[in-house]
Amino acid sequence: MIYLDNNASTRLCAPALKAMQPWLTEHWANPSSNHSEGRLCLAELTNARHIIAETFGASPGQIVFTSGATESNSLAILGAHVDGRPPSRFIFFQSGHFSVLTACEMAALRGGNTDVLRLPHSEDPVAALRQIGLRRGDFISIDWVNNETGIINDVAAVSRLASLHGALVHIDAAQAPGKIDIGLSKVDADFVTLSAHKMHGPRGIGALVVKPKLTFEPLWVGGAQESGRRGGTENVPGAVGFAAAAAELRVVDSAAREQMRRLQQKFEAAICESTREIVVIGQHLRRAPNTSLVCWPGLSSATILQHLDERGICASAGSACSSRSGGVSHVLSALGISGPVARGAVRFSTSRDTTESEIDAATVIVVEVIRHLQGRRSIAH
Ligand code: PMP
Repeated sequence: MIYLDNNASTRLCAPALKAMQPWLTEHWANPSSNHSEGRLCLAELTNARHIIAETFGASPGQIVFTSGATESNSLAILGAHVDGRPPSRFIFFQSGHFSVLTACEMAALRGGNTDVLRLPHSEDPVAALRQIGLRRGDFISIDWVNNETGIINDVAAVSRLASLHGALVHIDAAQAPGKIDIGLSKVDADFVTLSAHKMHGPRGIGALVVKPKLTFEPLWVGGAQESGRRGGTENVPGAVGFAAAAAELRVVDSAAREQMRRLQQKFEAAICESTREIVVIGQHLRRAPNTSLVCWPGLSSATILQHLDERGICASAGSACSSRSGGVSHVLSALGISGPVARGAVRFSTSRDTTESEIDAATVIVVEVIRHLQGRRSIAH
């Protein structure tokens, strides 16, 4: 199997597995329990919080553990308050993740006097936001790295603009770690979403990083965990695995990114040379080094993926979270990519585990599959 679907999920790294094991089998106490085992688990949770905070350039008190990016996005969007009230406008880019789009729509429905502004994808989000005129009470949500295209947004500039106008900013950074530098102190956002399983940590754990002193409504109530910001027994093994994956990231990060970039360039150059009518989305934009969203107009994503799967390649048509809903990717629609092009889209996403020989083998298979399908189409026409 050649796994090229790392934007959907990554392999748990060995240090994370090793670090988690004792907290699953030897020390399983509830960290809120007032006995020595409970206190041991609480101390380990605190240690994990410190490591994660340090990795991303935040303070431990800013980290609210969640079950992953979907929950973190919901918590920021549905929980945010400005001057003791929900925001008066939710502003998002339509190329964002479905969990953001849906939570913004839901927050606006709940809010009564609340508007939603759905902006088309823009290569210059700051200009797009300037054009609408920001004001206090606005809540902006933007992804740092798009999960389908890998396109990188200048979130620091968005945060600067927002703070000039007293607007809140939420950054969905689920796809950023391991692909770009993510020092949060440089970004100065109000809320930042992280997810462990996108960075070789375990599934079912993530974090919302919240600016100091910012208050918000919790979604899960009735428990004092996470300083009253997220009720429910904490996932200690998950947090420990997340921290170990974060620590590993610091060690391997820049070399891994260079390797992924080199493989991305090699792969794209080869498939562009050997298949017809190919479109690589965002090829000349700032893009994550691991993501190649490629369209072959006239072909169907589902058919390409089925052939690739039969030949041992795991790729995807876009976001795994919405893959069951079918249809054209909302991200490609937001980018203005036409239906016939978008319907033939395949996302290949590597990780630091991907080897050059895997990319070489995948290239041969992709080219054979596409030539075969394009040949069949020419005969049918
Ligand atoms: N946001 C982005 C940008 C994502 O890529 C994903 C995962 N596809 C999510 C949110 C949801 O992440 P999780 O699986 O951790 O809930």
